[in-house]
Amino acid sequence: MNGLVWLRSDIRIDDNPALSFADSECDSIICIYLHAKKEWSDHNNANVKLEFILQNIVDLSKNLDKFNIQLCSTELDSFEVIPEFIIKLCKENNINKCYWNNEFGVDENIRDKNVIKALNEHKIEFQNFDDQVVFQPGTILTGQGKPFSVFTPFKKKWIESFSMDHFDIENKLTKKTIQSDLSFGDISFTRSHQVNMELWPAGEEAALQRLSSFLEEKVSNYSKDRNHPIIDGTSRLSPYLAIGAISSRRCLLEALKLNKFELSTGNKGITKWIDELIWREFYKNIMHSFPRVSMNQPFNLATKKIPWRFKHNEFEAWKLGKTGFPLIDAAMYQLINEGWMHNRLRMVVAMFFTKNLLHDWRLGEAYFMNNLIDGDFASNNGGWQWSASTGTDAAPYFRIFNPVTQSQNFDPEGKFIKQHLSQLKPLSTKDIHLPPSEKLFDIDYPNPIVDLKTSRLRAIEVFKNNK
Ligand SMILES: Cc1cc2nc3c(=O)[nH]c(=O)nc-3n(C[C@H](O)[C@H](O)[C@H](O)COP(=O)(O)OP(=O)(O)OC[C@H]3O[C@@H](n4cnc5c(N)ncnc54)[C@H](O)[C@@H]3O)c2cc1C
Repeated sequence: MNGLVWLRSDIRIDDNPALSFADSECDSIICIYLHAKKEWSDHNNANVKLEFILQNIVDLSKNLDKFNIQLCSTELDSFEVIPEFIIKLCKENNINKCYWNNEFGVDENIRDKNVIKALNEHKIEFQNFDDQVVFQPGTILTGQGKPFSVFTPFKKKWIESFSMDHFDIENKLTKKTIQSDLSFGDISFTRSHQVNMELWPAGEEAALQRLSSFLEEKVSNYSKDRNHPIIDGTSRLSPYLAIGAISSRRCLLEALKLNKFELSTGNKGITKWIDELIWREFYKNIMHSFPRVSMNQPFNLATKKIPWRFKHNEFEAWKLGKTGFPLIDAAMYQLINEGWMHNRLRMVVAMFFTKNLLHDWRLGEAYFMNNLIDGDFASNNGGWQWSASTGTDAAPYFRIFNPVTQSQNFDPEGKFIKQHLSQLKPLSTKDIHLPPSEKLFDIDYPNPIVDLKTSRLRAIEVFKNNK
């Protein structure tokens, strides 16, 4: 039998159910990765994320070659033309069955329905699998059969429902017979970012290596270190999870092995880290069960009419790291230089954007997606809506992070700030969090673009009036 494995957010061999199932059924396999230009841009995906995907495809292709499995990638105009492309590919290569792992986005669902329709019309078999989560979105439900909209009860139900049966993880392939050589137009790529890609070595080996060194060296201090951006205390696995160079089940399984298979007891660092993997799954459930969040709507519809402001110069200052608040600016430089931002800082800059600047969270959400190597719609949308107090578990609107206090608490000596804003190195530990203007006399650094006190009160007033 000849199989076609359509790779999407699963650029790996380890724990790839579609690929391993195809391996068990087929004598020959072709893998395909399709880049749809329209949706890539409509979904605001980042140039740096595309470069990372391309590098991971090269790596996977070499690994698949060892099993005589050819991985071809090409670009198409849009999702719309995928059914026709797949049918043609199947006909020309005598493919009997197609395999893929599910994605949960609204547009992706429509795309897959259209592909299924075309496969049915041409009597080509297909089988799809779940690889992104432990529980398929929409299966962890309240006692009344409704989706959860708050994390803690979701997590409780998730833990109650968990069993090790969810971990039939495969990572072995068998040698296949060679198919005729396929070739398509390449995915075009022009670099328009300035991220140092050495920070993100490509490939599943690199991802698995990152997981094991995090678990060996850092996870036990995770609950203590995770909020301090100068400490490299988190896994930095998000780019690999976002494109599927590693699976979250692999991450969970290795963490559980280290914690004697305890999910919520045992080592505090490990259980805290497992919580974060469950957060990731929670937001995928929100995206699945509340499609409005994918359609530019707030989760909490009562916040639909918030009169957001827009000031071009403030938006630009925020994007370019020129707000005059060192922690915010250093964080935005981290995003520009690394394509990634520490979680604490994502919350601080998003809250500053939506509360102190009172700018629409959708603008910040899109800017993040446009620049993040780990851009993931569900987590990004969830994080932005949380910060804007429009989402699930939303921060109450009157509890607004003060970026100066956050800086004093989480970067007390200003080491992170100085790492990204070297012109501030001469400032003392006291001044670094909000440089007095007289100390900026010969330093190229702006004065604050807003007054924290009045802008905070303005946001509270706007939210209060919306009630
Ligand atoms: C405004 C905002 C935007 C965000 N945008 C994204 C995004 O586009 N892509 C993304 O992967 N994460 C996003 N996050 C969540 C989080 O900031 C990142 O997942 C985390 O910083 C990645 O670093 P890490 O891999 O070292 O995480 P670790 O602390 O090592 O956590 C392990 C994994 O758990 C998941 N995770 C951790 N924290 C969260 C969280 N709060 N919500 C959901 N999943 C989580 C990630 O997959 C992460 O790789 C966002 C958070 C906020 C507040």
